[in-house]
Amino acid sequence: MQIGGENATFVMLVRNRELNQALHSIREVEDRLNKKLKYPWTFLNDEPFTEEFKTLTTGLVSGATEYYLIEKEFWSRPDNIDDEKLEESMNQMTENGVIYGHSESYRHMCRFNSGFFFRTAPMLKYDWYWRVEPDTHYYCEIDYDPFEFMRVNNKTYGFVIALQEYEDTIPTLWQHTIDFFYNLFPQHVAENNSFDFIGDLSLARPGDVEPQTKTGYNLCHFWSNFEIGNLNFFRSQAYLDYFNYLESKQGFFYERWGDAPVHSLAVSIMLDKHQIHHFDDIGYYHPPFWRCPHDEESYVSGRCVCPKATADEDNFDFSPFSCLPRWWKLTGKHHIA
Ligand code: GDP
Ligand code: MN
Repeated sequence: MQIGGENATFVMLVRNRELNQALHSIREVEDRLNKKLKYPWTFLNDEPFTEEFKTLTTGLVSGATEYYLIEKEFWSRPDNIDDEKLEESMNQMTENGVIYGHSESYRHMCRFNSGFFFRTAPMLKYDWYWRVEPDTHYYCEIDYDPFEFMRVNNKTYGFVIALQEYEDTIPTLWQHTIDFFYNLFPQHVAENNSFDFIGDLSLARPGDVEPQTKTGYNLCHFWSNFEIGNLNFFRSQAYLDYFNYLESKQGFFYERWGDAPVHSLAVSIMLDKHQIHHFDDIGYYHPPFWRCPHDEESYVSGRCVCPKATADEDNFDFSPFSCLPRWWKLTGKHHIA
């Protein structure tokens, strides 16, 4: 029944209570693209899916569905995490006003997306994934197969929005990342990588005698609620070594490392910059930001229906917090007149 020719799946990590929001996102992905290609959907949850969830999502999609209960070891505190120390650091973050500062489940979610989703049993059989979240919008018809595009053009990771991370969630992530890649395993550093997207050139470069500090990170990352990526990259020993190293530093719990900066730092350092793709033809919303294509044709043709922008910076690409201009600078693509 599948028509698209790639070994690929949509994947949604979701809670039963998000059924309605999930249905809305799925409906749009199906309408804009997947009713033509019929790729399967994989649903992951740390609790068993309800019959209602399964019935309504299966009814909505054009491809096959699979529902998977995440194993405990992928969604629990490792033994070496100290209850009291965790509570203390969560309290501290709450005091500092950090979003999800006191949420343990949010930490499990970020750790799971950083190190485990690609090795859950249902995902093992696929080469490609497209992450979809509940409560997102897809504004533009997509008239080609993005998975095929990724494969044919030798892409490994695709994104739509790039922005800055809250520094309080990742005080030591940068230093550990620099230690891992530049001090311990320089063989994992790609030659023509995207370091300039994440590191500030005015500050010390890796390999300098002075160790890097967190100030070397400009906080830019690819927003991971939308991702199209190659699962084999994340299953590679090099990426797993990086994840295990981060896990040993315990920052998924004592800090609140997000999967977005973790994925972003890894792909920016480990991949050739041409292996990362910005889908500038995809209109997308995840609260509280949206972005849409910039060319006239996308609208004149009726392909996209985007929110009415009252100011240029309503389109997140042009917001002062967008990291896309930095990406354009790196890749030589300048869309801003
Ligand atoms: P935000 O986008 O950073 O505000 O975080 P979300 O609340 O959207 O969570 C990110 C993704 O993980 C979404 O797809 C959620 O449905 C999912 N998610 C978050 N927490 C949990 C959880 O405790 N259990 C499950 N099964 N999914 C979760
Ligand atoms: Mn979300």
